[in-house]
Amino acid sequence: MLENFSPPYNATVCQRLLDAGAVLVGKTNLDQFAMGSGTVDSIYGPTKNVWKCKAGGSSGGSAVAVASGVCFGAIGSDTGGSTRNPASYCGVVGLKPTYGLVSRHGLIPLVNSMDVPGILARNVDDVVSILNAVAGHDKQDSTCLTKPFKKISLFESSNYCSRLPPANKMGIKGLKIGIPIEYNCEYLSDEVLDMWDEIAQTLQNEGAIVKEVSMPHTQYSIVCYSVLNQCEVASNMARYDGIEYGYRADDDHSTEKLYAVSRRTAFNDIVKNRILTGNYFLLGRNYEKYFNQALKVRRLIMNDFDNVWEDAQLLLTPTTLTEAPLYSDFIQKTNRDQCAFQDFCTQPANMAGIPAVSVPIKLSKNGLPLSLQIMGRNLSEPMLLALAKYIE
Ligand code: GLN
Repeated sequence: MLENFSPPYNATVCQRLLDAGAVLVGKTNLDQFAMGSGTVDSIYGPTKNVWKCKAGGSSGGSAVAVASGVCFGAIGSDTGGSTRNPASYCGVVGLKPTYGLVSRHGLIPLVNSMDVPGILARNVDDVVSILNAVAGHDKQDSTCLTKPFKKISLFESSNYCSRLPPANKMGIKGLKIGIPIEYNCEYLSDEVLDMWDEIAQTLQNEGAIVKEVSMPHTQYSIVCYSVLNQCEVASNMARYDGIEYGYRADDDHSTEKLYAVSRRTAFNDIVKNRILTGNYFLLGRNYEKYFNQALKVRRLIMNDFDNVWEDAQLLLTPTTLTEAPLYSDFIQKTNRDQCAFQDFCTQPANMAGIPAVSVPIKLSKNGLPLSLQIMGRNLSEPMLLALAKYIE
């Protein structure tokens, strides 16, 4: 749809990077309109990670560009995990900032209330440098936070804990870390589970207060997200009519026909499927049952987070449920049906708008990266990234 489209203005994140002296080397591959978790559905073909496995997605091109050393860092978009999921499969750090901390101006919308530009880099310090360059109020985005952004210094962040930081790392004595039991879900591999236990134990041994917490509505998150996503997609994709911009079919029988043929030709099946399903959910007779109901469930999921902060300052969970699957396995139909499940651990943070970071921890038996995710309350990036640096 946008193959030949050149935007007439820069996205705020791009402009701020340029202003900070960065050199933008190129655009990266992703699933069409950021819908997916594999970077397998792009008109440019799939992106595989450097081990020829699934790169993750939707911002898999960005993760591979960083992992392979092509660039210092990259921007992705994160609506349900699209920065953290490929970061996990490619062995790099991936940050989804607090909703509204980084401007969405120029970011093509998927789910407006959940989208946020994400940051991928080889280590936490590099993520912080990029975040410091791009974060902060932007009058072009009405959902951008107005509170002034104070640049993050990880050294200062170490003051969150009482112990002096060893070698510029955060002291974690007394830091309350929650382990949400519901994230130990179906399809979580033994290797990821063992790594999760091991790091939780290490943090406890080093002085953190690590304890299990419960977030009972986590199990509804994927279905709730799917409904909200498809409804917003149905609305957001309406702008691609072949008239103002994007692909225009060579068919001038009628305006309606022109719209229809342009959209039928230039959207892939995944996009078309979400548009149709979303419109079904939004029909007058279905609106209450699906869209409104999903909004209420989203509120319950957000409440789980609000409640958990009474017991924990940060949460530690897996990012992805397994190591990167083989590309050939993932594109099999049955596995693709599980696409939504790939976001089980990442997507609740988007529902709540909170920040989350994926940190590579170790290699699996097969030599592939395994990562963990840390989540924190809104605007807790300084603490979140300090713990990320501690465990990286
Ligand atoms: N996999 C999810 C989806 O397809 C998330 C995508 C994203 O974060 N951009 O909707």
